Amino acid sequence: MRKIIFESLVRGPLTEAPPEADPAAVAELGVALERVARRRFGRSLAIREVDAGSCNGCELEIHALNNAFYDIERFGLRFVASPRHADVLLVTGPVTHNMKVALERTYAATPAPKWVVAAGDCANGCGVFEGSYAVVGAVTKVLPVDLHIPGCPPKPIDLIKGLIALMDKATTPSRLVAGRLDRK
Ligand code: SF4
Repeated sequence: MRKIIFESLVRGPLTEAPPEADPAAVAELGVALERVARRRFGRSLAIREVDAGSCNGCELEIHALNNAFYDIERFGLRFVASPRHADVLLVTGPVTHNMKVALERTYAATPAPKWVVAAGDCANGCGVFEGSYAVVGAVTKVLPVDLHIPGCPPKPIDLIKGLIALMDKATTPSRLVAGRLDRK
């Protein structure tokens, strides 16, 4: 026991070093996201996150948006508990058979205009789960997807950039009637 305590005192951390922080870039992107959301909705952007079958790696990066470093809520981006309060469904993972109906119901409960963002390689094309008996397929097989954010998992900064691109693209109200973007 004493040996373990001594080793833990002299040994350095075994985890990888964190990536270089760039608070200025985060702040700049956050302000851009807030500006575009206010222009579009006249208020903050509400996101409902749906794990359709992910390994939770994507969720860790999404959770990071709320940590003390990114603190994305200061820019008016909120994660909400109900799809009835959401503008955007942020879906991770390949859609599993167990989650298919839940995902469809969540989409149906979200008021229009609404957008679906498929976050991570699994949401985009099943990723490492491709071919699994438990998987229906990518999110686009179940819901109309407006934006794909690649990565395994996508970095928080890429999630912010993706949301800005999504809001920027939704320029005219007529495009929002069906709750989808015109992707031409
Ligand atoms: S994209 Fe990577 S981190 Fe995200 S659910 Fe798939 S395997 Fe996990």
